[in-house]
Amino acid sequence: MSPRSLARAEIAFPCPRCGKEAVCALDGRARCRSCQAETSLALPPELRETGVIESCPACGSACLYVQRDFNQKAGLAVVVLGAFLAPFTPYYSSLVVAALVDAALYAMLPEITVCYRCHAHFRGFARNSRHQAFDLHLAEQYDVHPPPGTEPPG
Ligand SMILES: [Zn+2]
Ligand SMILES: [Zn+2]
Repeated sequence: MSPRSLARAEIAFPCPRCGKEAVCALDGRARCRSCQAETSLALPPELRETGVIESCPACGSACLYVQRDFNQKAGLAVVVLGAFLAPFTPYYSSLVVAALVDAALYAMLPEITVCYRCHAHFRGFARNSRHQAFDLHLAEQYDVHPPPGTEPPG
């Protein structure tokens, strides 16, 4: 098995100084985009080798979930366009097309891993098969809110 390319892997986590987003590469060195504070994360060697996240290097929590790195605006634009064209297409078929395009977009999106506790985002890593989709019950333990797009309708 060839090693997975981690060239674009990055970890976005809350800056210990100001709480804004700091981004860390695989060498473990991070710089806050807001206050420029330098931080380093202790990344386990396995993470660099396999690209599989076992626990959050920023806060140590092993409670992580997986979600699509979904660009809400792009998906919304497709739906709005579909609704706009609906009266001009037979049987409102543009709505169906928009839904299909949305589903296709969604399927192509990369998965990212997110920490329940500190909301660190892990991009470009392999998915750990133990990590599931966002679970509200687990999230409540950490007193966090669901990410946009996962609230139940209504
Ligand atoms: Zn900062
Ligand atoms: Zn964390």
